Amino acid sequence: MSIDRNKKLSFATRSVHAGYDSSANEGSLNPPIYMTSTYAFDNVEQGAGRFSGEEKGHFYSRISNPTQEILESRLADLEEGEAALATASGMGAITATLWTLVGPGDQILVDKTLYGCTFSFMEHGLKKFGVDICYVDFTDHGELQSQLSDKTKVIYFETPVNPNMRVIDIAAVSTLVKDYSPDIKIMVDNTYCTPALQRPLTLGADLVVHSATKYLGGHGDLIAGAVVGDAETIQQIRLFGLKDMTGAVISPMTVFLILRGIKTLQLRMERHCQNAQAIAEMLHQHPAVDQVFFPGLKTDPWHAMASTQMDDFGGMIALELKGGYDASVRMLNKLKLAKLAVSLGDAETLIQHPASMTHSVYTLEERAAHGISEGLVRISAGLEAIEDIIADLEQALES
Ligand SMILES: *Cc1c(COP(=O)(O)O)cnc(C)c1O
Repeated sequence: MSIDRNKKLSFATRSVHAGYDSSANEGSLNPPIYMTSTYAFDNVEQGAGRFSGEEKGHFYSRISNPTQEILESRLADLEEGEAALATASGMGAITATLWTLVGPGDQILVDKTLYGCTFSFMEHGLKKFGVDICYVDFTDHGELQSQLSDKTKVIYFETPVNPNMRVIDIAAVSTLVKDYSPDIKIMVDNTYCTPALQRPLTLGADLVVHSATKYLGGHGDLIAGAVVGDAETIQQIRLFGLKDMTGAVISPMTVFLILRGIKTLQLRMERHCQNAQAIAEMLHQHPAVDQVFFPGLKTDPWHAMASTQMDDFGGMIALELKGGYDASVRMLNKLKLAKLAVSLGDAETLIQHPASMTHSVYTLEERAAHGISEGLVRISAGLEAIEDIIADLEQALES
């Protein structure tokens, strides 16, 4: 029997089992990979019924696929949403969702700091089509309140924010916005935390988006994304944002790898969090380091807030060296074990420089205005033994 949606089971158990019934699949412990673009109908009536939506079932893999459906049930279960849609990339999920929710004349209120390509899509994509993008500091609830208007259709933010690690209060923002108008959709990018650490839908958000490329896949071997929310909105995104606007369809092979990755999600997140905590504490005391941004440090301004909405503090750290930009470059070029690479959430410790890499689509002035400093270094704590990661960082910091 399928144990889909059994909320009584713990998160780790649901990560392994939710959405898949081996007894309905020849006993196969792992799900079959349905490599098919189309589905044969028994007769014309059945085909017509599937197209009109009157009959359940697949008709073309740009819309749905049985392997993909397993991942979607599992993600919906873990995020505690009704339904999910898996996509070819995180940007595929973000763009398919926003193309579905907004049109010319509508406004999106976004936090002042966003993942680089999300910023680029808003600033250079949606704006061109007449959507008003308004940047607000979401940690300032008075400012957020003052910007809400009849035009506001979507509220969009990440928390902790990539790359500067500010923490936004999901429950407080949701209450404030829903008090103004229950029709405004609240969208949270939960890539940094995954549902293992934070479940925005239980705190009042309407939609959660993911880059599954990161912790959900967890092994740096794929690009994928997902959106989770209520069944009606997810269906609209599937039939418009995905089917007609982006075509950002995920491959069944990629789905298989993400399902495999999610089985160890909780185990991996525990180690990512432990390693990040130890790295942050070492950096905090290091004479070459000016500032460490990590909500797990008791001295961090977001520590109390993060403790209430996150189960642990995550695997991502940002830091600023006393020697600024030049010192950052010297340190990054001296790393031996940690890889100088963008992306995050992999087994390998990854370090990058947002101003020249992930956030280089912002101009210098935009970075200053949006809170991304030039010397900032971002670390994704990997799964290596902590003493080896620390030894590598220490030798690089000596320069
Ligand atoms: C990587 C990332 C994205 C984009 O996801 P892709 O899978 O690379 O398209 C969006 N948001 C955040 C926070 C990310 O880290």
